[in-house]
Amino acid sequence: MSAMDDLLARASRVMPGGVSSPVRAFRGVGGTPVFVRGAHGAYLVGEDGREYVDYVGSYGPHVFGHRPRAVVEAIERALEQSTTYGAPTVAEVELAELLCSALPSLDMVRLVNSGTEATMSALRLARAATGRDRVVKLAGCYHGHADPFLVAAGSGAATIGVPSSPGVPPAVTAATLVAPYNDLAAVERLFHHHGDEIAALIVEPIAGNMGVVPPQPGYLEGLRALTARHRALLIFDEVMTGFRVAWGGAQTLFDVEPDLTTLGKVIGGGLPLAAYGGRRELMEQIAPAGPVYQAGTLSGNPLAVAAGTAQLRALAADGGAAYRILEANGARLEEGLRRAAARHRIPLQVQRQGSMVGLFFASRPVTCLAAVDASDRERFKRVFHRLLADGVHLPPSPYEALFVSTAHGEREIDHTVAAFDRALAAEAAA
Ligand SMILES: *Cc1c(COP(=O)(O)O)cnc(C)c1O
Repeated sequence: MSAMDDLLARASRVMPGGVSSPVRAFRGVGGTPVFVRGAHGAYLVGEDGREYVDYVGSYGPHVFGHRPRAVVEAIERALEQSTTYGAPTVAEVELAELLCSALPSLDMVRLVNSGTEATMSALRLARAATGRDRVVKLAGCYHGHADPFLVAAGSGAATIGVPSSPGVPPAVTAATLVAPYNDLAAVERLFHHHGDEIAALIVEPIAGNMGVVPPQPGYLEGLRALTARHRALLIFDEVMTGFRVAWGGAQTLFDVEPDLTTLGKVIGGGLPLAAYGGRRELMEQIAPAGPVYQAGTLSGNPLAVAAGTAQLRALAADGGAAYRILEANGARLEEGLRRAAARHRIPLQVQRQGSMVGLFFASRPVTCLAAVDASDRERFKRVFHRLLADGVHLPPSPYEALFVSTAHGEREIDHTVAAFDRALAAEAAA
């Protein structure tokens, strides 16, 4: 037994699967997760003392890698006051102003603690504002673990949801309608049959929870037009894409304006912080301005607000120079991976938007969940473990995006590409 196996056994006695969140347990790739002792820049440091180039990035927050100085200092300054007050602060007003200035669709926001809270609250608001109950979600999009979103991905045809977890009442998910991603006709059929019962359609404008699957040209515009025609709200879940793919998120990149937006990950600077927001007349329905109840003991937590604000200001600095670095680092990784795949004649799709990277062992571009399922996931597992042995830590599942940061320089990326090349050489030889 290795040290990590011992740790997993010990953890599993007191924590389900030994982890605080399922993907971390490596069930998607098999084997034993790396218990992490610390991190710096683009590197994780394992409890075995080894360093790994980190493409997990805590699943999204770390645009600058670990421990960026501006964020650490902001947390230290906030810590000198208190960890939490349960009272309004100027700092949270400043963060709200920053979010509203960055995303044109936001007049007002509510700060919460997790992406899950943001999406469930946005849905509650959409249901209250429309007086309707149903919600449309797209197969392969993840919106946190609230009951209405835990619906099995419909295979192929649009279908009424069945719960994908025990403990979720069918009565709850019966209100959730599912259509395949990037299939506008399927969504049109749902609206044709249920249009006047649908409160909202929620979508990841760039899907990042089935690898990375970008919207086909016209898809987001089509969803916008369809929801508007049926007076349903369009919710962009930008918990992953917000401030990562661009200042202003995917909605700015594609110039499509949703009614409600959810944010998280990057805006918390690595601390628990998320938000939902939209037009004034919608957001003023939230308590105490309006009747839609939503609250939180630690919401707007001063440490998280300080970390998030510092991270966003650093992203905005020098005319958004960080985004050019993220793009350059992402492009360098993409080119290296493509070159290795071509050299070894291994079919590979690298689907990238800036610093969000999807890797699929498939011979055609992947546009929906069914195509992800059909990719060579066994090869992904083998390559994952070869890379890990070479000191490169990918997200442990073919359904997760890789995250590049500004700290992923030539050294880290070239090491990654060399390790990937060796892994594909072994695949080609097998
Ligand atoms: C991560 C994520 C969530 C859930 O956020 P948590 O903070 O993990 O609750 C929701 N939506 C999207 C698009 C995400 O990527």
